[in-house]
Amino acid sequence: MGNRLRVAPLLKEIASVFAGRELYLVGGAVRDLLLGRESADWDLATSARPEEVMKLFKRVIPTGIKHGTVTVRYKGKSLEVTTFRTESAYSDGRRPDEVQYAAAIEEDLSRRDFTMNSAAVKLPEGTLIDPFDGRGDIKRRIIRSVGRAEERFAEDGLRPMRAVRFAAQLGFELEGDTLAAIPGALSTTARVAAERIRDELDKTIASFNPRRGLLLMEETGLLRLVLPELAACRGIEQRGRHRFDVLDHALLSCDYAAKQDFSREVRMAALFHDIGKPAVRRLDEAGDQWTFYNHERESSALTRGIMQRLKYPNAFTDRVLRLVEEHMFHYEENWKDGAVRRFIMRAGEDLLPELFQLRLADNAGTSGAEPDPALLLPLRRRVDAVLSRSRVLSLKDLALNGDDLMLNGVSPGKHVGIILRELLEAAVDDPALNNREKLLEIAGNINKRYQ
Ligand code: ATP
Ligand code: MG
Repeated sequence: MGNRLRVAPLLKEIASVFAGRELYLVGGAVRDLLLGRESADWDLATSARPEEVMKLFKRVIPTGIKHGTVTVRYKGKSLEVTTFRTESAYSDGRRPDEVQYAAAIEEDLSRRDFTMNSAAVKLPEGTLIDPFDGRGDIKRRIIRSVGRAEERFAEDGLRPMRAVRFAAQLGFELEGDTLAAIPGALSTTARVAAERIRDELDKTIASFNPRRGLLLMEETGLLRLVLPELAACRGIEQRGRHRFDVLDHALLSCDYAAKQDFSREVRMAALFHDIGKPAVRRLDEAGDQWTFYNHERESSALTRGIMQRLKYPNAFTDRVLRLVEEHMFHYEENWKDGAVRRFIMRAGEDLLPELFQLRLADNAGTSGAEPDPALLLPLRRRVDAVLSRSRVLSLKDLALNGDDLMLNGVSPGKHVGIILRELLEAAVDDPALNNREKLLEIAGNINKRYQ
């Protein structure tokens, strides 16, 4: 490969808008280019000041103007354009202080985190500017700090989390000094804003290799810092039930979910579904097997704490919690239809596909092998059959409502709700009862109890 890279025509076009201003493609897009991959978004560095960039384009959003960044929308693409910067102090270890502009691209590149992220492509020519041999490290598949790792991690405690995230995403190794510097940087990482940690953890879990990143987190102490509840699962062996301790089981389950491209909710639930086990573990009466009664409840409580601490959005957290709470579901062929309907109601029909995926992941994490494809077939078939017969699953599916009851002799008040729930129970067991007449008759009988 020469020092010239092939540049997308649209980038050349954009460069012409910058007429005369220095412009470079930087960051992940260059990394992707060197890896021969397409990249979704483009980060650009320029000598032009943000105010100038804002004048050059019609649609510009000052997304990070404090840090010299604006977002340009151009022909359906979103471009992050940042004026050359120099490393500024992180006095609180959380976020950089005032931005300082740099005179040249080389200075801008020297403040970047890893060599693989510190190459630039000059636009429109396509010349590679690579003062830290990022291309060589990409070829060697190595993540290496730009400069001394201890210093760079002391400047910004997020960088260790980024290092393991990239290891998970790219399957690269951490270079020795870079890896060795992480334990000493943990006190700096501890002061990083929760949202920034969350975003890196999220990308780790969203990657193809979450287990790889999480094992690196364990090895370096990041896991104990960021997810102490999960770190505590190491060495919790499950004699008689599992080949793996609770942590390895969680990592294998999460990894399987990633390999199957399951949703982030399922991956997260796979990682946390057994996190309550250390707290509830007891020996059985014979004294030779461990029991974990009600661990799903403890797991859900701990997961809630973790996700709130990391400031995950509530709607996302709620779905993960429901998956964790329901992950112990079991099914027997001799269940009556009503029992199947109650199972669906309890889990929530919308959650079933993911709950089944979680079970596959759980299974893979228990055996360390591909789960039996027929594992959930009987239950899936049964659910489909039962739903095709009747969809009475909630009060709104009943053939009457509270007003109907009150027009038929039930006095307003809490009895209305109680009677409606009893009617739902009856209709769930026997959908044939779900018509106005029958329900009113049953309601009349129940109502007598309250006279
Ligand atoms: P991706 O967009 O796939 O997450 P990326 O490498 O583009 O990967 P970004 O977070 O978008 O990562 O950052 C863009 C670039 O900014 C990085 O490639 C790196 O050069 C630089 N950078 C980002 N965060 C830091 C940081 N905490 N310290 C130093 N440089 C950073
Ligand atoms: Mg990026």
